[in-house]
Amino acid sequence: MYVGAHVSTRGGYIGSAKSAWSMGANAFQYFPMNPRSLSTKIVNMQDAAACAAFCREHDILSIGHAPYPLNPAADEAERELMVKLLKNGLEITDACGSVGLVVHFGKYVGKDPLQGYKNIIQCLDSATYGYEGASLILLENQAGEGSQLGLTLEEMVQVRKLCRFPEKIGFCLDTCHACASGLWQSHGWSELEARGGLLDYFPHLKAVHLNDSLHPFGSRRDRHANIGTGYIGQDNFAEMLSSSYLKHIPIVLETGKGPGGTHAEEIALVRSLLRQTE
Ligand SMILES: [Zn+2]
Repeated sequence: MYVGAHVSTRGGYIGSAKSAWSMGANAFQYFPMNPRSLSTKIVNMQDAAACAAFCREHDILSIGHAPYPLNPAADEAERELMVKLLKNGLEITDACGSVGLVVHFGKYVGKDPLQGYKNIIQCLDSATYGYEGASLILLENQAGEGSQLGLTLEEMVQVRKLCRFPEKIGFCLDTCHACASGLWQSHGWSELEARGGLLDYFPHLKAVHLNDSLHPFGSRRDRHANIGTGYIGQDNFAEMLSSSYLKHIPIVLETGKGPGGTHAEEIALVRSLLRQTE
């Protein structure tokens, strides 16, 4: 299984791969561009290629996380900018050999939620038009704080289906968001897995953000907690981690670092939960 954490790109993309490997991870997430800005970045191809080679050599899977202000549900006035950023993110993650670029489902503040879905589809269509790389856009489910879009499996599946190039789109399941939104009810993993399989969600699940939740199931509040210290708890994670859908995809922690200043201890904890179920 591929387990790891979000890591810094201070030492370049190759630096992020090496720091993941040195803490016992065989998966990681990084920010391909400045996470707080809407400006594009010039790819350092040498750095990206070194990252891709290192990951191939050590059998590591990675994902990039798109900048926070990137909102595919934004209205047409901002579309060009959003598409440019998505293309830039795809270009970088592809060069780094990553599985995909994780993109939040999108926030729509207008009156008609249907317009929000249309915006997302049009934005994704433009971003993937003519794109031939292997890195996918990975839509991440939302917690329900500040926007009602992207809380359910049905929305993810429908948006993907209605896109012009669905083969370029996959999903990233954030477990904290799934708890907060009510998508995943306590003790209900097997039911969720069965339903998500029928809906054609899990066959396109390409990454997991593994986070416990500081707030209860259905609270609509997005605060990540370390594994086993929140409302999801170790037993639910152990059940989830035994899923066959999770065997070959990156599972990445977005939680606070441990006492040693890394996620080494928490990665070891996740691996131990996994062993319990084997
Ligand atoms: Zn997340």
